[in-house]
Amino acid sequence: MTRFPPEPSGYLHVGHIKASMLNYHYAKMYGGKMILRFDDTNPITEKLEFVENIQTDLKTLEIVPDKVSYSSDFFKEIQDYCRKLIQDGNAYADDTPADKMKEERDVGTESKCRAFTVEENLKHFEDMLAGRTTTFCIRAKLNMQNPVKCLRDPVFYRCKQEPHHRTGSTYKAYPTYDLTVPIVDSLEGVTHALRTVEYRDRNALYEWVQKVLNLRTSKIYDFSKLNLVSTVLSKRKLKWFVENGHVDGWNDPRFPTVQGIMRKGMTVEALKEFMLEQGPSRNTSLMEWDKIWANNKQIIDPIAPRYTCIGKDTACKLIIENVSVATEARSQPLHPKNPAVGSKAVIYGRECYIERDDAQDIQEGEKITMMKWGNVVITKKVAEGSNFTLWGNLDEADKDFKKTKKVTWIAADPATTVEIKLVEYDHLITKAKIEETDDVEKLVNKNSRFE
Ligand code: ATP
Ligand code: MG
Repeated sequence: MTRFPPEPSGYLHVGHIKASMLNYHYAKMYGGKMILRFDDTNPITEKLEFVENIQTDLKTLEIVPDKVSYSSDFFKEIQDYCRKLIQDGNAYADDTPADKMKEERDVGTESKCRAFTVEENLKHFEDMLAGRTTTFCIRAKLNMQNPVKCLRDPVFYRCKQEPHHRTGSTYKAYPTYDLTVPIVDSLEGVTHALRTVEYRDRNALYEWVQKVLNLRTSKIYDFSKLNLVSTVLSKRKLKWFVENGHVDGWNDPRFPTVQGIMRKGMTVEALKEFMLEQGPSRNTSLMEWDKIWANNKQIIDPIAPRYTCIGKDTACKLIIENVSVATEARSQPLHPKNPAVGSKAVIYGRECYIERDDAQDIQEGEKITMMKWGNVVITKKVAEGSNFTLWGNLDEADKDFKKTKKVTWIAADPATTVEIKLVEYDHLITKAKIEETDDVEKLVNKNSRFE
């Protein structure tokens, strides 16, 4: 039994694709099951919109959880376990102001609140739950000299007055990740808790919680976080782009979200190949998008239909004088090597458009090849401003294409020509390797969309 535990505070990004695919495919490889658990212990950042889109995105990724649950389903149990921790002297209430607590943690000073009796601690905890206090928190009673600072009496419960998207205003205090996850993993029967290496320092805490609460244990396995060049992978930071209008929405093709990259033409198969290739390795590296897109190209190249277009602003006319019909539709394969892709109607006509770059190079008297049509001998070329108009004669019997210039064309037929927009995207930020301390607001690429 594995689990994928996103916090519903944003849409899934490519890092979550790695985590969800590893959890899912490893479970399936060994005949196991995977739980999708919304880790909703912070009412301030969570929303139903995110819950719904995370489920949609997993469906897109062909991940079908065996069970869907919420950490908030277990708030009652977690409270009881927290009472037990307090009763056993493993946790205490603390109202040290946040900055002082940080300072004490930094230097390794014990909080004065460590001296409270069990009864006092329990009273403060009940006051927190009922909303009678907002200044207390519950902390694990560990070792304030632990060289690993996140293990110096970490916070297990904190007051939050904001309503929760599922439990409303029932609770005024919420358990933290560090307390919630080992309890819920155990209660839900998780055998293998796969998580990213940045939690490694906290593995000891996870094991401690399960041990002192006499819970069935789970085995932690950690794997490296996925990092990609010039890519922000943090729901909080991605949300900033959405809220400040730097993208069209969470599904913007420049976004590393599931919805963004699928819109840009990614396939689930390519993602799966890439993620499983990374596997459970713990080596953190900065990956290139090129690798994922190259996988994708291998998958779509044999099946993607082919179409032809000519730049509207750079189109030059070529009039083929010995073609009498104005237009004529002929059937052509959609893919040069794969007939299964089907066929398309291509319009052939007396007047065609070719690209200016081609027109520029063509000389009067030259023989050129109109792709998928035949050779044309150019009889006349006239320059008008920066554009050209050419005239020529087609010889379909001439099959000698060896030395001719190959020219892409479309019929200049307003009735059948479709106008399309091609959009190209650049990275959203201007720095390849983003550090945790970087202020992304200063790294926004203001020019990342080209039409
Ligand atoms: P974010 O900073 O984007 O909010 P998170 O780690 O806080 O990321 P969660 O919703 O808590 O996001 O994550 C759900 C799961 O996805 C966790 O198990 C987490 O380890 C994993 N995960 C998040 N980012 C990455 C990443 N870049 N590579 C691999 N796994 C990731
Ligand atoms: Mg998070």
